[in-house]
Amino acid sequence: MQVVSIPAHNPGPLTGEGNHTYLLFHEARAASESDEARAHASLIDAGTGHPDHLEDVAGALRARAAMLDEVLVTHAHPDHISGTPALRQKWPSATFRKLPWPERDAEYHVDWAPLEDGALVAGGTLQTIHTPGHAPDHVCFWDPNARVLFSADLVIMGTTVVIPGTRGGNLGAYLQSLKRVLALEPRRLFPAHGPVIDHPRTLIQEYLAHRALREAQILSVVASGHQTLDAILDAVYPGLAPELRMAARESALAHLLKLESEGRIRRRDDDRWEYNRRLS
Ligand SMILES: [Zn+2]
Repeated sequence: MQVVSIPAHNPGPLTGEGNHTYLLFHEARAASESDEARAHASLIDAGTGHPDHLEDVAGALRARAAMLDEVLVTHAHPDHISGTPALRQKWPSATFRKLPWPERDAEYHVDWAPLEDGALVAGGTLQTIHTPGHAPDHVCFWDPNARVLFSADLVIMGTTVVIPGTRGGNLGAYLQSLKRVLALEPRRLFPAHGPVIDHPRTLIQEYLAHRALREAQILSVVASGHQTLDAILDAVYPGLAPELRMAARESALAHLLKLESEGRIRRRDDDRWEYNRRLS
């Protein structure tokens, strides 16, 4: 299998230099002897429909005389999915596949072919791995022969991944997903943002350690009597820049919800958080 990284041409404050999409080429067996084997391609993530992205995909397909079989969407965040209508218009015969998140998927008016954990894609070369946490529908694609994982938004070098507590994020699920990927022992990750990750084990262990530290901080801040989300934020992130506050709120809330689900803290009717002394 051949992998071509194609930029989505969408740089910005939330996407860094912009998303990477990946075009994968695989040979499909000829249907009959007279029929020539032809290169087939799968695109991982739809980008945002930027004309330069469409042009780059078209050029890479042309260069290999390949046809686009399918578009595999890793999750329904706009930088991964919103290019779907433009791609469908240009390649109407392609199949659009993702793990369902019905209320989000419906926005794109595409007949989605549903993916499930373990489903084979890209001509049978990749396995779908459901990795919820950053989003409920988040998947990675695993090549067991090359030990390579197309990891979408699971981890990003040099930063952390937002777990949006109010919009489908789930920190407990995210930590399980990190552990599941660690157990695969991947050799290399191809993420949707930032550079290729050549030392996945080290990076994933750093992520797990970072979350464990943050959880301990939040628990101790709640135990010492900080009750509102804002008070907790100010105690955990002193001097936080205003533009980072929204993301930090989401992340702190994701930690609080995880601790609540474990019975270590509780949320009062007035939305204040309390340390659960009986259980902790
Ligand atoms: Zn995302």
